[in-house]
Amino acid sequence: MREIILYFINFTWRYNMKYAIILIDGMADEKIEKLNYKTPFEVAKTPNIDKLAKEATFGTFLTLPDEFPTSSDVANMSVLGWDLKRSYTGRGAVESYGAGILMTPDMVAFRMNLITVKDGLIEDYSAGHISEEEARVLIDYLKENLDTEEMFMGQGVSYRHLLYFKGEKYSPNIAYEKPDSSHGIEWETILPKALDEKAKLTEEKLIKLVYKSKELLENHPINIKRVKEGKNPANIVWPWSGGGKPDMQTFYEMYNKKGAIVSAVDVILGLGRLGEMDIDKPEGATGFIDTNYENKAIAAVELLKKNDFVYLHVEAVDECGHMGDLEKKIDAIESVDKRLVGKFLEVYYKEIGEEIRIMILPDHPVPIRLRQHTRDKVPFMVWGKNVKVDENIKEYNEETCKNGKYTNLKGRELMDLLFANEEI
Ligand SMILES: [Zn+2]
Repeated sequence: MREIILYFINFTWRYNMKYAIILIDGMADEKIEKLNYKTPFEVAKTPNIDKLAKEATFGTFLTLPDEFPTSSDVANMSVLGWDLKRSYTGRGAVESYGAGILMTPDMVAFRMNLITVKDGLIEDYSAGHISEEEARVLIDYLKENLDTEEMFMGQGVSYRHLLYFKGEKYSPNIAYEKPDSSHGIEWETILPKALDEKAKLTEEKLIKLVYKSKELLENHPINIKRVKEGKNPANIVWPWSGGGKPDMQTFYEMYNKKGAIVSAVDVILGLGRLGEMDIDKPEGATGFIDTNYENKAIAAVELLKKNDFVYLHVEAVDECGHMGDLEKKIDAIESVDKRLVGKFLEVYYKEIGEEIRIMILPDHPVPIRLRQHTRDKVPFMVWGKNVKVDENIKEYNEETCKNGKYTNLKGRELMDLLFANEEI
């Protein structure tokens, strides 16, 4: 009987209310002298977000707790309310699900970047954002030469790939450095390191792979061509964040709502697949500033037709932060506002038009000054149905949210706020 009542409550609710999170990866930043002590987000022209912010409520949320890496998978798992202690194993595993490669319990997956090293230092975590086509040729070449039954690579997108170990004798218990946090560091001093006796064999194989990849890639025709064109060569691989098969609750189990995810990047799509959500990577979604923002907004509305909740993730701004490119970061934020937020609102009201609650937030800061993620709490705003307007705050940014009504949220408190039946 309880199930039937719950079903009907949920059924009616579903037709009355939709929910969306627009997740602007890496948007938060610091006040910058060159911008008259404003943040890139404050300086960017964002008329659509500004309009919503006039009728919103605000707060801050902890996405990167101290005991976990400062990685986007951790941050987005936090936003979506998964219990990190129970579910987090490593980025490789999450991305593997994003790429559609499901794992068995005897597998360990590492994320593997194609990167650029120069004069012994890590020069570029993304090998100049190498194209999908070029990366495919290089990974195929590495696979032909290095894959075995027990250790093999998986194709991802651009510079983002995967490395698997299969067999009980391998272990994810490996200390690593994130390539996007290691610019200018001597790569040979930060190679993967076993954290216990059992992981020694895995460490040995990882290190051998890194050196072998350098031999194979250095003089590959694609890299010779890239250097001639003034681009960074993909001259070594960098494995990091290994993990076994994650144990995750489905989104429906957690919230009794049907959820969906739109993203360009495997790590976010992987979370969706693990949570048994609908996922979509629309045509032209690249995870970079050349992404098709409009198509992502349209895809999100499409998914909301048969779901209660959509998570619309956009990566471009994060990449500009890692590149340390202030102008591009501001540009990307403006594109997100105009072509993604604006488009989403336009298409949503044309095609669905039911009452909705929309939350906007980044998953973590990537200050231009540091070019890497920091653990600062992220600012968020919620607008829409049953949201009590915060009369004291008229703008959404890093500073104003600190005085919002909902500060220092953590764990699943953010999603519970979004889904709260009562006025918030
Ligand atoms: Zn991120």
